[in-house]
Amino acid sequence: MVAHVPTLFLVIMALSATLAVAVGIAARTQLREGMGYWALGLLAHTLAYLLFALRGQASDWFSVVLGNVLLSSVFALFAEGVFQFQQRRPPRWLLWLPVAVVAVLFSALLPWYLVRVVIGVVIFVFQSLFVVVALLQKRKETVGVGQYFLVTGFLVLIAMMLLHGGGVLLHREEIKSVLSSHWVPSLVSLVSALCTVVVSLGLILMAKERGDERNRKLAMRDELTGLINRRSLLEALAQQLATAMRHGQPLALLMVDIDYFKQVNDLHGHLSGDKVLKAMAHAVCKRTRAQDLPGRLGGEEFLVILPNTTLQGAVQLAEVLRQGIETTGFQSTSGKAITITISIGVCEQGQLLAPQCDDLISAADQALYLAKQNGRNRLEVFAP
Ligand code: GH3
Ligand code: MG
Ligand code: MG
Repeated sequence: MVAHVPTLFLVIMALSATLAVAVGIAARTQLREGMGYWALGLLAHTLAYLLFALRGQASDWFSVVLGNVLLSSVFALFAEGVFQFQQRRPPRWLLWLPVAVVAVLFSALLPWYLVRVVIGVVIFVFQSLFVVVALLQKRKETVGVGQYFLVTGFLVLIAMMLLHGGGVLLHREEIKSVLSSHWVPSLVSLVSALCTVVVSLGLILMAKERGDERNRKLAMRDELTGLINRRSLLEALAQQLATAMRHGQPLALLMVDIDYFKQVNDLHGHLSGDKVLKAMAHAVCKRTRAQDLPGRLGGEEFLVILPNTTLQGAVQLAEVLRQGIETTGFQSTSGKAITITISIGVCEQGQLLAPQCDDLISAADQALYLAKQNGRNRLEVFAP
């Protein structure tokens, strides 16, 4: 089946222009994600195909030389976009040298279509491979599947360029120009149009996936202290409890509450209270192991999940924490010394029969209540 190549060029122009506008609008908020370069690349793509479509009507210098220089710039701009998305400095000369080479060689080789095609294929394949390699180098650091839209799109594009080169070499009698109606240029144009859509969607998806990941991380953390928040704590506890029960391992919990924290706010102001909470989070993290999960339950209450820790081990850590906080020099925003003490409730999953998360939290809470009742600045162990 042979499609009318000039019509396909019109379709490519319309697609590229539409995508350029769409990506350009997205770039207003996400310039740093490479979208600005990408929109420029799509614009250059539109102009390149406009010039190709004018073959025979405009001067060859416009339609052949400028058209191909623009096409080469498309690859350079896409590569710039990918590097910017990856927050890497691009090797500029490697990106833009091919564009200069196209300008020089295509001017010098204007009368020789076949040679131009071969040189064009070599340079454009090199430029596309460059983008693919840049993407693959950072595939582990890049979240999501958007990047594979780009890799696939560029690989298919490379296959199309090779098919175009091979087609022109094998059917040189029938394919005399880029606009010849023959199945090879028809297929190449059609698939290239689709690739433009796929790679552009890929970049937009990459930016979206990165944004989602950022939001997901933000949603897991408590803004003030940087510790994991209540929701993540409960999720982590459910996971750790399931693991502990499956492997018959201990799992301990510390429920930590600052004593008379309301007075800190009343005496030194709310900002000083916030400062103490941050310092408190830091002090707790400093004293826990890498596998322990300290988080902020809310207000001045913290929960520390202690995987694979016995009741005795948990009591030891709780005492280290209690003494550590008591001897830490907290300061108000104006530099006044504030003494802080904490009460801690301790429990371990083995103390309960078939415990659920809520049961464990309730047990730690009961122990904490006891510590408060018994005078504060102390720890109590849950008594079943
Ligand atoms: P207790 O020893 O019984 O725990 O007394 P307390 O004063 O610590 O307990 P209470 O629950 O009465 O007060 C907790 C206070 O914690 C009340 C609230 O003003 C303060 N608070 C909760 N969240 C924040 C916060 O994010 N920042 C600041 N600065 N204060 C907070
Ligand atoms: Mg308190
Ligand atoms: Mg409290």
